[in-house]
Amino acid sequence: MNSISERLKSLGLALGFAQIGIAPAVTPTGFHRLLQWIDNGHSADMQWVERRREAYRHPDGVMPGTRSVIMAAMNYNDGAEPAGGGRVARYAWGSADYHDVLKPRLLKLADLLRSEVPTARTRVVIDTAPLLERDFGRLAGIGWFGKNTMLISRTIGSWFVLGAVLTDVELAYDKPVEQNYCGSCTRCLDACPTDAFPEPGVLDARRCISYLTIELRKEPIPVDLRNGIGEWLFGCDICQDVCPWNRFAPEDTLPEFRHLVSMNPIDCRELLTLSVEEFHARFDSTPLSRPGRAGLLRNAAIVLGNAKDRTAEPELLAALDDEEPLIREAAAWALGELGQ
Ligand code: SF4
Ligand code: SF4
Repeated sequence: MNSISERLKSLGLALGFAQIGIAPAVTPTGFHRLLQWIDNGHSADMQWVERRREAYRHPDGVMPGTRSVIMAAMNYNDGAEPAGGGRVARYAWGSADYHDVLKPRLLKLADLLRSEVPTARTRVVIDTAPLLERDFGRLAGIGWFGKNTMLISRTIGSWFVLGAVLTDVELAYDKPVEQNYCGSCTRCLDACPTDAFPEPGVLDARRCISYLTIELRKEPIPVDLRNGIGEWLFGCDICQDVCPWNRFAPEDTLPEFRHLVSMNPIDCRELLTLSVEEFHARFDSTPLSRPGRAGLLRNAAIVLGNAKDRTAEPELLAALDDEEPLIREAAAWALGELGQ
């Protein structure tokens, strides 16, 4: 199956992926770490992880009979360095949701496989199925787990998203990355503003700004963590920004990931004035729809409170009358930070 594997890789690179690797379907070592992580409460409120914990044991949990996992890494770094409040994580700076960019390309890989092996079964996975994608990225030779828990590639750093194609066809497998190239560096651990790493390589999602601003959608953000959020409106890149392996990360990405001025930074004052309809019109096709209007406007109020910018008072005062209690509470907190 060497030649099919090679053809899959060539097609993947031609489709815009930066790295493609192939791993056998096994129980990854990360499965036991995952169980421990859940049992320690570090998965926070992400009940979908806990509910499906057994399914993560083996790719069979996603597609019975899986023998191979094709892992594809898509670089989203275009080298832009915008600054300012209302910051958005780099993967969401472009014009499209990365799921929509990866899916048609992964389907093309699956099509190629089925054209070579007509009986092949395939399943495309991006993020939503219980697959330990980073573990399979390591097994497929793409990178190692940094102390910041990200998968880091020696050639493309960590500014990439992963997708997978599962198949019941046996392919030629890449060598896993066994070495950890972090060395004595602790930059990511030292830079995290909310102390979200209880130890190197372990993330306590309950304290991570990415979790708090994206996944914690229906609850207030704990007050003791709000100042640490600083100017992050959606996600957080700090532990990747400081990583030396990203200094030389390539800057050639697809047009869909190129930085749009309207996507970062985002004017939080203007954001606070968006109606439900305006929010959907502006964000529905982007990752920023994930926390919903209530979650994103709650975040905007916290960013404005942290900025201590008194010119934001009119928008914050108006937000005290919002129909969403989550937004009202955050606006009241922000006004308190402004000395109101
Ligand atoms: S994403 Fe931000 S908050 Fe989360 S661990 Fe990294 S530096 Fe800390
Ligand atoms: S910042 Fe240093 S310790 Fe953290 S992931 Fe990068 S190389 Fe590893």
